[in-house]
Amino acid sequence: MDEQCRNKFENIIFNKDLCRKIIEYTGPLVKKRCIVCESVIEYQILTLNIVNENKKIINLQACDKYYVCSEECYKIEDIERKNIRCILAVLIFTIMCIFLLITVMTIL
Ligand SMILES: [Zn+2]
Repeated sequence: MDEQCRNKFENIIFNKDLCRKIIEYTGPLVKKRCIVCESVIEYQILTLNIVNENKKIINLQACDKYYVCSEECYKIEDIERKNIRCILAVLIFTIMCIFLLITVMTIL
């Protein structure tokens, strides 16, 4: 690529007006949203990736991870209480299975 051609190419690539028009046309690519208030947490403009402050929460019941934007949204979702309930359910189920197994073993 000769010097003149490279300058033309850079003028196109780094043209702010063209860049703004492309973004207006395509819009930012939203990658992550808050599960409570639907506000944008992570988005991409062309090759630039922008991440806002967020908190990752793991939902054991759904075997999935979610993102919330703030402490208020975290309190509203209250995943920890749901996770504790899920852990308790698994624990009770396991104890019942062990109890059933011991009962069957003593009978036989
Ligand atoms: Zn939120």
